Amino acid sequence: MSAMTMTEKILARSSGKSSVVPGENVWTNVDVLMTHDVCGPGTFGVFKKEFGPNAKVWDKDKLVLIPDHYIFTKDAMANRNVDVLRAFAKEHDIKYFYDVGTANYKGVCHIALPEEGHTRPGEVLLGTDSHTCTAGAFGEFATGIGNTDAGFVLGTGKLWLKVPPTMRFVFHGQMPPYLMAKDLILAVIGDIGVDGATYRAMEFDGDGVYALNIEERMTLCNMAIEAGGKNGIIAADQVTFDYVNKRNAGQKPYSAVKTDPGAKFDFEKVYDVTKMEPVVAKPHSPDNKATVTEVKGTKLDRAYIGSCTGGKLTDFKAAAGILNGKTVKIDTFVVPATTEVARGLDTEKIGGKSLRDIFLAAGAKIGEASCAACLGGPSDTFGRLNTPISCISTTNRNFPGRMGHKEAKVFLASPLTVAASALAGTIADCRDLLV
Ligand code: SF4
Repeated sequence: MSAMTMTEKILARSSGKSSVVPGENVWTNVDVLMTHDVCGPGTFGVFKKEFGPNAKVWDKDKLVLIPDHYIFTKDAMANRNVDVLRAFAKEHDIKYFYDVGTANYKGVCHIALPEEGHTRPGEVLLGTDSHTCTAGAFGEFATGIGNTDAGFVLGTGKLWLKVPPTMRFVFHGQMPPYLMAKDLILAVIGDIGVDGATYRAMEFDGDGVYALNIEERMTLCNMAIEAGGKNGIIAADQVTFDYVNKRNAGQKPYSAVKTDPGAKFDFEKVYDVTKMEPVVAKPHSPDNKATVTEVKGTKLDRAYIGSCTGGKLTDFKAAAGILNGKTVKIDTFVVPATTEVARGLDTEKIGGKSLRDIFLAAGAKIGEASCAACLGGPSDTFGRLNTPISCISTTNRNFPGRMGHKEAKVFLASPLTVAASALAGTIADCRDLLV
């Protein structure tokens, strides 16, 4: 049997084969299917149309329903979508439904999934959201699918998938305090372009990656899709096992895989993190890379810290460290990805002050756990860019209109860079504040 990458090994196992090669199509058995308020209604519609109005979900304990996108809004259509999730969860007796307005409510699906124990090494996780690739941080095959495919999975538990070739990105060296995973992934996307990894697995490797905590690894994998990647993936290690074993929903057994020595990569690039710099993605594309040095002083109107890629506790600790004892010069919005992260804003302290107190004292506004303005949303969405302003953001996309107004300009950056820029009112270098 020839040597395989992690992605190939997982797809071989999930399709009952001893080996697969890139380009081969396989019937994959799905371990977890996730859908949310935006795509759930469409997925259920396909399922009922194709499998019948009384059809049963293939395995109700493998379906996870997470309302997160358009939650805190008066918009009637958005509210109706959540009602459709509620009705489906009731009809099919879905255990893993994190309904808004209940103690179960979580927030952004890609952070809620691991927090609630739905991510496990070696498994196949599909979700009706392109950033489902975030869960590759747990050593699993995780990718976004459309409503039609998800409707098919609901009825059968299977999906016909083409095995992607793997690109390998190796990060060596000890991360300097002014860099975060966001800088690494923005550098990669800037180097290879938004189509540089189209339908390929992006495997992240090297001591620089394994030194990252699990949240930072999630940031790396989250943005694989911004390079067109089918999935992002990082081999599970003790950091992963410690996180997963504490949370594993239903204590489901799992088995991790590693890339075989001699496995073939489609592309390989090695980075020395000690030589990298803080970067931003300028409007209007995540691959429009510039070093902070090149764009320092660019005028801004708003700063936004949130989303699945930049609204985790690690992100807020970094931002609060910069904002502590200072005052922001521009409107600054803080949106925890999940309710667990929101609780962390109160329990996590720097110099005896909670992160929440630091943000509020600095003049930032704190929203409720959700996607909020990352995807624009209805006009009453917290932090939405309703006018053509310039915003620096820890989110993952800056295409025209992504955060609201189609003429708004969005610069993507790490939480350290966004916090430093919030204090200056212009793009600022966090290295000036960390000395
Ligand atoms: S936070 Fe943004 S990128 Fe993440 S799932 Fe929500 S809308 Fe998508």
